[in-house]
Amino acid sequence: MSAFVGKYADELIKNAKYIATPGKGILAADESTGTIGKRLSSINVENIESNRQALRELLFTAPNALPYLSGVILFEETLYQKTADGKPFVDVLLEANVLPGIKVDKGVVDLAGTNGETTTQGFDGLGARCAAFYKAGARFAKWRAVLKIGATEPSELSIQQNAQGLARYAIICQENGLVPIVEPEILTDGSHDIKKCAYASEMVLAAVYKALNEQHVLLEGTLLKPNMVTPGSDSPKVTPEEIAEYTVTTLRRTVPAAVPGVVFLSGGQSEEEATVNLNAMNKLDVLKPWTLSFSFGRALQASTLKIWGGKKENVAAAQANFLARCKANSEATLGKYGGDGAGGLASESLYVKGYKY
Ligand code: 13P
Repeated sequence: MSAFVGKYADELIKNAKYIATPGKGILAADESTGTIGKRLSSINVENIESNRQALRELLFTAPNALPYLSGVILFEETLYQKTADGKPFVDVLLEANVLPGIKVDKGVVDLAGTNGETTTQGFDGLGARCAAFYKAGARFAKWRAVLKIGATEPSELSIQQNAQGLARYAIICQENGLVPIVEPEILTDGSHDIKKCAYASEMVLAAVYKALNEQHVLLEGTLLKPNMVTPGSDSPKVTPEEIAEYTVTTLRRTVPAAVPGVVFLSGGQSEEEATVNLNAMNKLDVLKPWTLSFSFGRALQASTLKIWGGKKENVAAAQANFLARCKANSEATLGKYGGDGAGGLASESLYVKGYKY
């Protein structure tokens, strides 16, 4: 078995490595039109294109924030949008050495034969769509598989189907020049303890890397976007050090050293929790052959969204807040976060039961 080496191999390796630069991470701003609608309605802002554009412009043009980012994941509409002054968002990012990424999955549907588990859609025309996104400036992609923990979940069927799906998506991306972010998210819903999450995460990641190998994916040209290993949402919380220990142990057992970076999702943790947990992982004194960084959606945007509230006069304050979160997470990738972003909005829980991205 050997990895696929196509015309994009060198570029894939270079871009994946760049995204995994210590001190930098990813902003996930790829909410679909439906999902961003929920965010906007939480601040009483209408879900129309101009408002979606205004929010994304606020984030991408926040003074001094982009040096803390190596990538931004976009939704298709946003990939082709411009600033109010007419500059394509893609150019704004590229000029700041931030790679544009693109969400290529089309959401999840029930996986027949399971008790409400899911599989991810988006294979129709995927190669052609990836080629078009590459042409438009995208250099990496995201596909989110969703698993859950229950009495008999994640089931073997769901683990296998989602692992095969992620591998198929990954090789199609690589054939078209996009670095695939492989995202098997295990939801936090439930009353399980951290050990059960560690066990499920280990099973899922082992299956994912077996499938990636079987489908000849070039691991050096990929990134992993996993959940952190935590207790279920209905269980008592544990310390960041415990989360760090379980998460890094799980990754060390399953993620090959050829993978340049692991970029966590925030999964409903508060902004501060996500940052502190990432920091604790980077402080752990064990061999970690990959960079441990962030690809946060909610944990990079929630407080900024509230401060903005859809009002022009709040843009500068919202951007300053976004800068503070980017800086805090950058420090956390180096294990150097001092806790100066704690308190207030940053400590509010972002957990939503049965969350659909
Ligand atoms: P959260 O950080 O809000 O979990 O989202 C990250 C993401 O992109 C999920 O696919």
